[in-house]
Amino acid sequence: MTLFGKPLHWWVLGALVAGVVLGVGLHFLLTPAAWAGMGVQDSNAFLKRAAVAAGATDPNADATTGAVVLRGALEGAKLIGDLFLRLLRMLAVPVVLFSVIAAVAGVGDPKALGRMGAWTIGSFGLTAVVAVVVGVVMASTLRPGTFVDAGVRDMLAEQFARDANARIASNAEFAKSTSVVGQVLDMIPTNPFKALADGNMLQVVVFAVMVGLGLLLSAHAFKEQATRVFEALADACLRLVTLFMKLAPLAVMCLTALLVAQLGVSVLRALAVFVACVVVGLAILLLVVLPGAMVLLSAKGKGVPLRTFFRAMMPSYLLAFSSSSSAATMPVTLECCDAMGIPRRVSGFVVPLGTTVDMTGTAFYQVMCVGFLAQAFGVPLSLMDYVGIAFMAIFIAIGSPGLPGASLVLMVFILDAFKVPAAGLALIIAVDRVLDMCRTVVNVSGDAVASVIVASREK
Ligand code: ASP
Repeated sequence: MTLFGKPLHWWVLGALVAGVVLGVGLHFLLTPAAWAGMGVQDSNAFLKRAAVAAGATDPNADATTGAVVLRGALEGAKLIGDLFLRLLRMLAVPVVLFSVIAAVAGVGDPKALGRMGAWTIGSFGLTAVVAVVVGVVMASTLRPGTFVDAGVRDMLAEQFARDANARIASNAEFAKSTSVVGQVLDMIPTNPFKALADGNMLQVVVFAVMVGLGLLLSAHAFKEQATRVFEALADACLRLVTLFMKLAPLAVMCLTALLVAQLGVSVLRALAVFVACVVVGLAILLLVVLPGAMVLLSAKGKGVPLRTFFRAMMPSYLLAFSSSSSAATMPVTLECCDAMGIPRRVSGFVVPLGTTVDMTGTAFYQVMCVGFLAQAFGVPLSLMDYVGIAFMAIFIAIGSPGLPGASLVLMVFILDAFKVPAAGLALIIAVDRVLDMCRTVVNVSGDAVASVIVASREK
Protein backbone atom coordinates (compact mmCIF):
# COMPACT_ATOMS: atom_id res chain seq x y z
CA MET A 1 0.00 0.00 0.00
CA THR A 2 1.45 3.33 -1.08
CA LEU A 3 0.39 6.96 -1.11
CA PHE A 4 2.15 9.49 -3.37
CA GLY A 5 4.78 6.85 -4.06
CA LYS A 6 5.74 6.31 -0.40
CA PRO A 7 4.69 3.33 1.75
CA LEU A 8 1.40 4.12 3.44
CA HIS A 9 2.58 3.16 6.91
CA TRP A 10 5.06 6.05 6.90
CA TRP A 11 2.23 8.45 6.21
CA VAL A 12 0.13 6.93 8.96
CA LEU A 13 3.04 6.98 11.39
CA GLY A 14 3.66 10.64 10.58
CA ALA A 15 -0.05 11.32 11.06
CA LEU A 16 0.02 9.58 14.43
CA VAL A 17 2.89 11.76 15.60
CA ALA A 18 1.20 14.89 14.24
CA GLY A 19 -2.01 13.83 16.00
CA VAL A 20 -0.21 13.44 19.32
CA VAL A 21 1.47 16.84 18.98
CA LEU A 22 -1.81 18.49 18.01
CA GLY A 23 -3.68 16.70 20.80
CA VAL A 24 -1.13 17.71 23.45
CA GLY A 25 -1.34 21.30 22.20
CA LEU A 26 -5.14 21.28 22.42
CA HIS A 27 -5.03 19.61 25.85
CA PHE A 28 -2.88 22.33 27.34
CA LEU A 29 -4.29 25.29 25.40
CA LEU A 30 -7.99 24.63 25.85
CA THR A 31 -8.13 25.29 29.59
CA PRO A 32 -11.35 26.53 31.27
CA ALA A 33 -9.74 29.99 31.37
CA ALA A 34 -9.06 29.89 27.61
CA TRP A 35 -12.71 28.91 26.94
CA ALA A 36 -13.90 31.68 29.24
CA GLY A 37 -11.76 34.08 27.21
CA MET A 38 -13.83 33.01 24.17
CA GLY A 39 -17.09 33.59 26.02
CA VAL A 40 -17.69 29.93 26.85
CA GLN A 41 -18.46 29.24 30.52
CA ASP A 42 -19.44 25.57 30.18
CA SER A 43 -17.19 24.06 27.52
CA ASN A 44 -18.72 20.58 27.86
CA ALA A 45 -22.21 21.82 27.07
CA PHE A 46 -20.83 24.06 24.32
CA LEU A 47 -18.98 21.22 22.59
CA LYS A 48 -21.97 18.89 22.90
CA ARG A 49 -24.30 21.66 21.67
CA ALA A 50 -26.42 20.85 24.71
CA ALA A 51 -29.85 22.45 24.68
CA VAL A 52 -30.63 25.00 27.36
CA ALA A 53 -33.67 24.26 29.50
CA ALA A 54 -36.62 26.61 29.00
CA GLY A 55 -36.31 29.68 31.16
CA ALA A 56 -32.64 29.00 32.05
CA THR A 57 -29.87 31.35 30.98
CA ASP A 58 -27.41 29.95 28.47
CA PRO A 59 -23.90 30.00 30.03
CA ASN A 60 -22.42 30.09 26.54
CA ALA A 61 -24.59 32.82 25.06
CA ASP A 62 -21.53 35.07 24.62
CA ALA A 63 -19.43 32.53 22.68
CA THR A 64 -17.18 34.33 20.20
CA THR A 65 -16.90 33.48 16.50
CA GLY A 66 -13.50 31.98 17.29
CA ALA A 67 -15.09 29.52 19.72
CA VAL A 68 -17.73 28.55 17.18
CA VAL A 69 -15.09 28.02 14.47
CA LEU A 70 -13.01 25.94 16.87
CA ARG A 71 -16.01 23.78 17.73
CA GLY A 72 -16.68 23.32 14.02
CA ALA A 73 -13.07 22.24 13.46
CA LEU A 74 -13.26 19.70 16.29
CA GLU A 75 -16.56 18.35 14.95
CA GLY A 76 -15.05 18.15 11.47
CA ALA A 77 -12.08 16.17 12.80
CA LYS A 78 -14.41 13.76 14.58
CA LEU A 79 -16.47 13.38 11.41
CA ILE A 80 -13.40 12.44 9.36
CA GLY A 81 -12.23 9.88 11.94
CA ASP A 82 -15.67 8.34 12.36
CA LEU A 83 -16.30 8.26 8.62
CA PHE A 84 -13.10 6.34 8.03
CA LEU A 85 -13.84 3.79 10.78
CA ARG A 86 -17.40 3.34 9.53
CA LEU A 87 -16.15 2.67 5.99
CA LEU A 88 -13.86 -0.05 7.28
CA ARG A 89 -16.46 -1.51 9.61
CA MET A 90 -18.93 -1.57 6.74
CA LEU A 91 -16.64 -4.09 5.06
CA ALA A 92 -15.99 -6.29 8.10
CA VAL A 93 -19.09 -8.51 7.80
CA PRO A 94 -18.92 -8.99 3.99
CA VAL A 95 -15.18 -9.69 4.16
CA VAL A 96 -15.72 -12.36 6.84
CA LEU A 97 -18.56 -13.94 4.88
CA PHE A 98 -16.94 -13.97 1.45
CA SER A 99 -13.39 -14.74 2.45
CA VAL A 100 -14.26 -17.56 4.86
CA ILE A 101 -16.58 -19.21 2.32
CA ALA A 102 -13.96 -18.85 -0.43
CA ALA A 103 -11.17 -20.07 1.84
CA VAL A 104 -13.02 -23.15 3.11
CA ALA A 105 -14.41 -24.09 -0.31
CA GLY A 106 -11.03 -23.48 -1.92
CA VAL A 107 -9.11 -25.78 0.41
CA GLY A 108 -9.66 -28.67 -1.95
CA ASP A 109 -10.37 -31.58 0.34
CA PRO A 110 -12.03 -31.94 3.75
CA LYS A 111 -8.91 -33.52 5.25
CA ALA A 112 -6.88 -30.42 4.46
CA LEU A 113 -9.62 -28.32 6.07
CA GLY A 114 -9.36 -30.41 9.24
CA ARG A 115 -5.60 -29.95 9.29
CA MET A 116 -5.93 -26.20 8.76
CA GLY A 117 -8.53 -25.97 11.52
CA ALA A 118 -6.38 -27.94 13.94
CA TRP A 119 -3.31 -25.75 13.38
CA THR A 120 -5.42 -22.62 13.68
CA ILE A 121 -6.98 -23.67 16.98
CA GLY A 122 -3.60 -24.96 18.19
CA SER A 123 -1.85 -21.67 17.58
CA PHE A 124 -4.74 -19.58 18.99
CA GLY A 125 -4.82 -21.83 22.06
CA LEU A 126 -1.09 -21.79 22.68
CA THR A 127 -0.74 -18.03 22.44
CA ALA A 128 -3.80 -17.48 24.65
CA VAL A 129 -2.41 -19.77 27.35
CA VAL A 130 1.01 -18.11 27.26
CA ALA A 131 -0.66 -14.67 27.38
CA VAL A 132 -2.59 -15.44 30.54
CA VAL A 133 0.45 -17.08 32.14
CA VAL A 134 2.43 -13.87 31.48
CA GLY A 135 -0.49 -11.97 33.02
CA VAL A 136 -0.58 -14.16 36.14
CA VAL A 137 3.19 -13.96 36.65
CA MET A 138 3.28 -10.18 36.21
CA ALA A 139 0.18 -9.42 38.26
CA SER A 140 1.16 -11.65 41.17
CA THR A 141 4.85 -10.71 41.34
CA LEU A 142 4.82 -7.00 40.44
CA ARG A 143 1.52 -6.39 42.31
CA PRO A 144 0.71 -3.07 40.56
CA GLY A 145 -2.43 -2.59 42.67
CA THR A 146 -0.40 -2.08 45.82
CA PHE A 147 1.10 1.11 44.35
CA VAL A 148 -2.24 2.91 44.18
CA ASP A 149 -2.72 5.43 46.91
CA ALA A 150 -6.05 4.85 48.73
CA GLY A 151 -7.00 8.53 48.28
CA VAL A 152 -6.41 8.38 44.52
CA ARG A 153 -8.31 5.08 44.38
CA ASP A 154 -11.41 6.52 46.05
CA MET A 155 -11.23 9.71 44.04
CA LEU A 156 -11.13 7.77 40.74
CA ALA A 157 -13.84 5.37 41.93
CA GLU A 158 -16.08 8.36 42.55
CA GLN A 159 -15.12 10.29 39.42
CA PHE A 160 -15.77 7.42 37.01
CA ALA A 161 -18.56 5.71 38.98
CA ARG A 162 -21.26 6.55 36.42
CA ASP A 163 -19.23 5.08 33.57
CA ALA A 164 -18.43 1.94 35.59
CA ASN A 165 -22.07 1.47 36.57
CA ALA A 166 -23.15 1.69 32.94
CA ARG A 167 -20.83 -1.18 32.08
CA ILE A 168 -21.90 -3.23 35.07
CA ALA A 169 -25.52 -2.73 34.00
CA SER A 170 -24.86 -3.88 30.42
CA ASN A 171 -23.03 -6.89 31.79
CA ALA A 172 -26.02 -7.75 33.97
CA GLU A 173 -28.31 -7.46 30.93
CA PHE A 174 -26.03 -9.74 28.96
CA ALA A 175 -25.84 -12.31 31.79
CA LYS A 176 -29.63 -12.29 32.17
CA SER A 177 -30.17 -13.04 28.52
CA THR A 178 -27.74 -15.95 28.17
CA SER A 179 -26.54 -18.93 30.18
CA VAL A 180 -23.25 -20.72 29.43
CA VAL A 181 -25.05 -23.47 27.50
CA GLY A 182 -27.08 -20.78 25.76
CA GLN A 183 -23.91 -19.03 24.70
CA VAL A 184 -22.47 -22.19 23.16
CA LEU A 185 -25.73 -22.84 21.32
CA ASP A 186 -25.84 -19.20 20.34
CA MET A 187 -22.78 -19.69 18.15
CA ILE A 188 -25.07 -21.35 15.60
CA PRO A 189 -27.41 -18.83 14.01
CA THR A 190 -31.02 -19.93 13.56
CA ASN A 191 -31.32 -17.18 11.00
CA PRO A 192 -28.00 -16.45 9.27
CA PHE A 193 -29.40 -13.33 7.66
CA LYS A 194 -30.21 -11.91 11.06
CA ALA A 195 -26.64 -12.73 12.14
CA LEU A 196 -25.36 -10.82 9.12
CA ALA A 197 -27.68 -7.91 9.77
CA ASP A 198 -26.72 -7.78 13.46
CA GLY A 199 -23.00 -8.14 12.69
CA ASN A 200 -22.77 -11.13 15.05
CA MET A 201 -19.27 -12.14 13.94
CA LEU A 202 -19.11 -15.52 15.64
CA GLN A 203 -22.39 -16.59 14.04
CA VAL A 204 -21.29 -15.20 10.68
CA VAL A 205 -18.04 -17.17 10.86
CA VAL A 206 -19.88 -20.40 11.76
CA PHE A 207 -22.36 -19.85 8.92
CA ALA A 208 -19.60 -19.04 6.42
CA VAL A 209 -17.61 -22.15 7.41
CA MET A 210 -20.76 -24.24 6.87
CA VAL A 211 -21.48 -22.74 3.44
CA GLY A 212 -17.83 -23.23 2.47
CA LEU A 213 -17.98 -26.83 3.67
CA GLY A 214 -21.16 -27.39 1.69
CA LEU A 215 -19.45 -26.11 -1.44
CA LEU A 216 -16.40 -28.23 -0.73
CA LEU A 217 -18.53 -31.37 -0.49
CA SER A 218 -20.78 -30.45 -3.40
CA ALA A 219 -20.52 -32.28 -6.71
CA HIS A 220 -22.40 -29.60 -8.63
CA ALA A 221 -21.12 -28.70 -12.07
CA PHE A 222 -20.84 -25.01 -11.07
CA LYS A 223 -19.07 -25.63 -7.77
CA GLU A 224 -15.78 -24.19 -9.02
CA GLN A 225 -17.47 -21.13 -10.45
CA ALA A 226 -19.40 -20.55 -7.23
CA THR A 227 -16.16 -20.65 -5.24
CA ARG A 228 -14.57 -18.18 -7.67
CA VAL A 229 -17.52 -15.81 -7.21
CA PHE A 230 -16.91 -15.65 -3.45
CA GLU A 231 -13.19 -15.20 -4.08
CA ALA A 232 -13.93 -12.34 -6.43
CA LEU A 233 -16.32 -10.69 -3.96
CA ALA A 234 -13.77 -10.95 -1.14
CA ASP A 235 -11.19 -9.46 -3.49
CA ALA A 236 -13.54 -6.61 -4.40
CA CYS A 237 -13.99 -5.77 -0.71
CA LEU A 238 -10.24 -5.70 -0.20
CA ARG A 239 -9.83 -3.40 -3.20
CA LEU A 240 -12.18 -1.04 -1.41
CA VAL A 241 -10.05 -1.30 1.71
CA THR A 242 -7.03 -0.19 -0.30
CA LEU A 243 -9.08 2.73 -1.54
CA PHE A 244 -10.36 3.73 1.90
CA MET A 245 -6.90 3.45 3.38
CA LYS A 246 -5.87 6.51 1.36
CA LEU A 247 -7.90 8.38 3.95
CA ALA A 248 -6.00 6.72 6.81
CA PRO A 249 -3.34 9.40 7.44
CA LEU A 250 -5.88 12.21 7.77
CA ALA A 251 -8.30 10.07 9.80
CA VAL A 252 -5.59 8.78 12.12
CA MET A 253 -4.37 12.30 12.76
CA CYS A 254 -7.89 13.44 13.64
CA LEU A 255 -8.67 10.43 15.84
CA THR A 256 -5.38 10.70 17.72
CA ALA A 257 -5.55 14.46 18.23
CA LEU A 258 -9.07 14.27 19.67
CA LEU A 259 -8.15 11.35 21.92
CA VAL A 260 -4.99 12.94 23.27
CA ALA A 261 -6.75 16.27 23.80
CA GLN A 262 -9.26 14.58 26.11
CA LEU A 263 -6.75 12.33 27.87
CA GLY A 264 -6.43 12.72 31.60
CA VAL A 265 -2.66 12.94 31.91
CA SER A 266 -2.86 13.13 35.70
CA VAL A 267 -4.80 9.85 35.81
CA LEU A 268 -2.18 8.15 33.68
CA ARG A 269 0.43 9.37 36.12
CA ALA A 270 -1.51 8.20 39.21
CA LEU A 271 -1.80 4.70 37.75
CA ALA A 272 1.69 4.77 36.23
CA VAL A 273 2.83 1.43 37.68
CA PHE A 274 -0.25 -0.39 36.39
CA VAL A 275 -0.04 1.29 32.99
CA ALA A 276 3.68 0.47 32.74
CA CYS A 277 3.11 -3.19 33.72
CA VAL A 278 0.39 -3.59 31.06
CA VAL A 279 2.46 -1.90 28.36
CA VAL A 280 5.57 -3.96 29.16
CA GLY A 281 3.50 -7.17 29.25
CA LEU A 282 1.91 -6.38 25.89
CA ALA A 283 5.33 -5.55 24.44
CA ILE A 284 6.59 -8.96 25.62
CA LEU A 285 3.66 -10.63 23.89
CA LEU A 286 4.12 -8.64 20.68
CA LEU A 287 7.89 -8.87 20.41
CA VAL A 288 8.76 -12.14 22.14
CA VAL A 289 5.83 -14.51 22.67
CA LEU A 290 4.04 -14.15 19.33
CA PRO A 291 7.20 -14.14 17.15
CA GLY A 292 8.47 -17.05 19.29
CA ALA A 293 5.29 -19.03 18.65
CA MET A 294 5.56 -18.19 14.95
CA VAL A 295 9.13 -19.47 14.69
CA LEU A 296 8.46 -22.50 16.86
CA LEU A 297 5.25 -23.67 15.22
CA SER A 298 5.98 -22.81 11.58
CA ALA A 299 7.20 -25.65 9.39
CA LYS A 300 10.99 -25.46 8.97
CA GLY A 301 12.05 -23.12 6.21
CA LYS A 302 8.45 -22.21 5.32
CA GLY A 303 7.70 -19.44 7.79
CA VAL A 304 7.99 -15.71 7.20
CA PRO A 305 11.20 -13.91 8.32
CA LEU A 306 10.53 -11.71 11.36
CA ARG A 307 11.65 -8.56 9.56
CA THR A 308 9.26 -9.19 6.68
CA PHE A 309 6.48 -9.99 9.13
CA PHE A 310 6.80 -6.80 11.17
CA ARG A 311 7.31 -4.62 8.12
CA ALA A 312 4.24 -6.04 6.37
CA MET A 313 2.13 -5.69 9.52
CA MET A 314 2.89 -1.99 10.03
CA PRO A 315 -0.35 -0.64 8.46
CA SER A 316 -2.41 -3.05 10.53
CA TYR A 317 -0.58 -2.16 13.76
CA LEU A 318 -0.97 1.55 13.19
CA LEU A 319 -4.64 1.24 12.41
CA ALA A 320 -5.30 -1.07 15.36
CA PHE A 321 -3.50 1.41 17.59
CA SER A 322 -5.47 4.39 16.40
CA SER A 323 -8.88 2.69 16.16
CA SER A 324 -8.78 0.25 19.13
CA SER A 325 -10.86 -2.08 16.99
CA SER A 326 -9.57 -5.34 15.59
CA ALA A 327 -12.82 -5.78 13.65
CA ALA A 328 -12.31 -2.50 11.80
CA THR A 329 -8.65 -3.43 11.26
CA MET A 330 -9.38 -6.95 9.99
CA PRO A 331 -9.60 -6.15 6.26
CA VAL A 332 -6.25 -4.35 6.52
CA THR A 333 -4.70 -7.30 8.38
CA LEU A 334 -5.78 -9.48 5.44
CA GLU A 335 -3.97 -7.16 3.05
CA CYS A 336 -0.87 -7.31 5.25
CA CYS A 337 -1.00 -11.11 5.05
CA ASP A 338 -1.15 -10.77 1.25
CA ALA A 339 2.00 -8.67 1.41
CA MET A 340 3.75 -11.48 3.32
CA GLY A 341 2.81 -13.90 0.57
CA ILE A 342 0.29 -15.88 2.64
CA PRO A 343 -2.29 -17.47 0.36
CA ARG A 344 -5.78 -15.97 0.68
CA ARG A 345 -7.25 -19.42 1.16
CA VAL A 346 -5.36 -19.52 4.49
CA SER A 347 -5.54 -15.90 5.68
CA GLY A 348 -9.15 -15.62 4.49
CA PHE A 349 -10.02 -18.31 7.01
CA VAL A 350 -7.60 -17.65 9.87
CA VAL A 351 -7.77 -13.84 10.13
CA PRO A 352 -11.59 -13.49 10.27
CA LEU A 353 -11.78 -16.38 12.73
CA GLY A 354 -8.94 -14.91 14.79
CA THR A 355 -10.53 -11.46 14.85
CA THR A 356 -13.58 -13.08 16.38
CA VAL A 357 -12.11 -15.53 18.88
CA ASP A 358 -8.36 -14.97 19.24
CA MET A 359 -7.46 -11.98 21.40
CA THR A 360 -4.04 -12.51 22.92
CA GLY A 361 -3.71 -8.97 24.26
CA THR A 362 -7.21 -8.93 25.70
CA ALA A 363 -6.71 -12.24 27.56
CA PHE A 364 -3.53 -10.88 29.17
CA TYR A 365 -5.19 -7.57 30.00
CA GLN A 366 -8.13 -9.22 31.78
CA VAL A 367 -5.78 -11.06 34.15
CA MET A 368 -3.74 -7.93 34.82
CA CYS A 369 -6.83 -5.84 35.55
CA VAL A 370 -8.46 -8.33 37.89
CA GLY A 371 -5.16 -8.81 39.78
CA PHE A 372 -4.67 -5.04 39.93
CA LEU A 373 -8.17 -4.33 41.25
CA ALA A 374 -8.00 -7.15 43.81
CA GLN A 375 -4.75 -5.68 45.14
CA ALA A 376 -6.05 -2.10 45.10
CA PHE A 377 -9.15 -3.11 47.10
CA GLY A 378 -7.31 -5.53 49.39
CA VAL A 379 -9.00 -8.73 48.15
CA PRO A 380 -6.57 -11.64 48.66
CA LEU A 381 -6.10 -13.96 45.66
CA SER A 382 -4.49 -17.41 45.91
CA LEU A 383 -2.57 -19.07 43.08
CA MET A 384 -5.62 -21.23 42.42
CA ASP A 385 -7.70 -18.06 42.13
CA TYR A 386 -5.28 -16.77 39.52
CA VAL A 387 -5.58 -20.04 37.60
CA GLY A 388 -9.37 -19.60 37.64
CA ILE A 389 -9.04 -15.97 36.52
CA ALA A 390 -6.72 -17.01 33.70
CA PHE A 391 -9.16 -19.66 32.57
CA MET A 392 -12.07 -17.22 32.55
CA ALA A 393 -9.93 -14.59 30.81
CA ILE A 394 -9.40 -16.91 27.85
CA PHE A 395 -13.15 -17.39 27.47
CA ILE A 396 -13.85 -13.70 27.86
CA ALA A 397 -11.28 -12.97 25.14
CA ILE A 398 -13.04 -15.46 22.87
CA GLY A 399 -16.44 -13.89 23.49
CA SER A 400 -15.35 -10.28 23.30
CA PRO A 401 -16.11 -8.44 20.06
CA GLY A 402 -13.26 -6.58 18.36
CA LEU A 403 -14.55 -3.14 19.30
CA PRO A 404 -13.12 -0.35 21.47
CA GLY A 405 -13.40 -1.15 25.18
CA ALA A 406 -15.50 -4.23 24.46
CA SER A 407 -13.78 -6.58 26.89
CA LEU A 408 -14.27 -4.25 29.85
CA VAL A 409 -17.98 -5.09 30.04
CA LEU A 410 -17.28 -8.81 30.12
CA MET A 411 -14.60 -8.38 32.79
CA VAL A 412 -17.41 -7.90 35.31
CA PHE A 413 -18.00 -11.68 35.15
CA ILE A 414 -14.51 -12.37 36.50
CA LEU A 415 -14.68 -9.60 39.09
CA ASP A 416 -17.98 -10.98 40.42
CA ALA A 417 -16.69 -14.55 40.43
CA PHE A 418 -13.69 -13.63 42.57
CA LYS A 419 -15.47 -11.14 44.82
CA VAL A 420 -13.49 -8.16 43.57
CA PRO A 421 -15.70 -5.03 43.68
CA ALA A 422 -17.01 -4.52 40.14
CA ALA A 423 -17.35 -0.81 40.88
CA GLY A 424 -13.52 -0.83 40.83
CA LEU A 425 -13.82 -0.78 37.03
CA ALA A 426 -13.96 2.97 37.51
CA LEU A 427 -10.21 2.91 38.17
CA ILE A 428 -9.49 1.15 34.92
CA ILE A 429 -11.88 3.14 32.76
CA ALA A 430 -9.68 6.16 33.37
CA VAL A 431 -6.76 4.58 31.52
CA ASP A 432 -8.51 1.94 29.46
CA ARG A 433 -8.56 3.76 26.13
CA VAL A 434 -4.79 4.03 25.90
CA LEU A 435 -4.29 0.43 26.99
CA ASP A 436 -7.02 -0.67 24.55
CA MET A 437 -4.98 0.86 21.73
CA CYS A 438 -1.99 -1.23 22.78
CA ARG A 439 -3.82 -4.53 23.36
CA THR A 440 -5.62 -4.26 20.02
CA VAL A 441 -2.20 -4.18 18.30
CA VAL A 442 -1.33 -7.47 20.03
CA ASN A 443 -4.73 -8.92 19.11
CA VAL A 444 -4.27 -8.28 15.38
CA SER A 445 -0.70 -9.53 15.49
CA GLY A 446 -1.88 -12.85 16.94
CA ASP A 447 -4.19 -13.36 13.96
CA ALA A 448 -1.37 -12.77 11.47
CA VAL A 449 1.00 -15.05 13.42
CA ALA A 450 -1.55 -17.85 13.26
CA SER A 451 -1.92 -17.26 9.51
CA VAL A 452 1.83 -17.62 9.01
CA ILE A 453 1.88 -20.84 11.04
CA VAL A 454 -1.08 -22.38 9.22
CA ALA A 455 0.23 -21.32 5.79
CA SER A 456 3.61 -22.91 6.52
CA ARG A 457 1.87 -26.18 7.40
CA GLU A 458 -0.10 -26.31 4.16
CA LYS A 459 1.05 -28.74 1.57
N1 ASP B 1 -10.49 -3.34 21.53
C1 ASP B 1 -10.14 -4.74 21.51
C2 ASP B 1 -10.09 -5.23 20.08
O1 ASP B 1 -10.76 -4.68 19.24
C3 ASP B 1 -11.07 -5.59 22.33
C4 ASP B 1 -10.93 -5.28 23.80
O2 ASP B 1 -10.03 -5.86 24.43
O3 ASP B 1 -11.69 -4.47 24.33
O4 ASP B 1 -9.38 -6.15 19.77
